[in-house]
Amino acid sequence: MSLRTVNVVAARALTHNVRELTLDAGADFRFVAGQWVSLRIALDNGEFVSRSYSIASAPRGDGRFEIAVTRVEGGPGSTALHALDVGATLEASHAQGFFTLEPLARPALFIGTGTGVAPLRSMLRAALADREADARLTLLLGVRSELDLLYGDEFSALAREFAGRFRFVPTLSRASDAWSGRRGYVQTHARELVGELGGDVDAYICGLQRMVKEVRAVLKGELGFARERIHSERFD
Ligand SMILES: Cc1cc2nc3c(=O)[nH]c(=O)nc-3n(C[C@H](O)[C@H](O)[C@H](O)COP(=O)(O)OP(=O)(O)OC[C@H]3O[C@@H](n4cnc5c(N)ncnc54)[C@H](O)[C@@H]3O)c2cc1C
Repeated sequence: MSLRTVNVVAARALTHNVRELTLDAGADFRFVAGQWVSLRIALDNGEFVSRSYSIASAPRGDGRFEIAVTRVEGGPGSTALHALDVGATLEASHAQGFFTLEPLARPALFIGTGTGVAPLRSMLRAALADREADARLTLLLGVRSELDLLYGDEFSALAREFAGRFRFVPTLSRASDAWSGRRGYVQTHARELVGELGGDVDAYICGLQRMVKEVRAVLKGELGFARERIHSERFD
């Protein structure tokens, strides 16, 4: 596959173990919200690994996009991306994948855990930028604790700006006593949120395989979702 050079033009910590990189792939780079790129990452020992990362930002036409990388303990690719300096270069594939936003014909429930929220952020930002569309959108984001709530302030601000259209529902599996929001895993809350959206919804699920499997089981097995209403992407 042909690769293109991308430049790291900005970096910031989203949480204690998630780093966002802004990459510039050149003005002719195109992608659809929800897609991912494969990056060829140089390691300290001179070897390279290829790893996939979902694009976290909405398409904007200038070749720049964001990725959000969880630092995996002992993981070579993610560790190297956390150490990369602004100004560094990488090689990237073209944008790939079929986990993309369908036309918003009905309400949509987005369910992500950890950096699984990355392609969902891209889709949500693209959907909310379409001022003509009025389908209701709910994001259910599961993370461990308050410290892990990546993009939490941004999603809360969007929920205020698009009140009535976009709702942000974080749930924490290991919340502190001070947390007054939802607790537990995303699959515990999916049923109720589907009901609140009227039952007939498109679901977009992204994260590690175990969560995706369990949420699919709730939607399909318990709520009788048709297969074409469930869209999912797994990171492992
Ligand atoms: C289509 C696709 C999109 C992806 N998008 C992202 C993304 O946007 N952000 C991201 O951080 N990763 C993403 N990944 C995972 C990424 O490609 C790497 O697997 C990850 O960065 C670990 O690579 P590593 O070399 O550090 O560790 P490795 O030694 O290759 O992996 C070790 C283990 O880490 C676990 N793991 C993988 N990803 C995560 C994660 N995000 N959080 C916790 N544990 C994980 C898996 O169980 C894996 O077996 C995506 C994977 C795929 C297939």
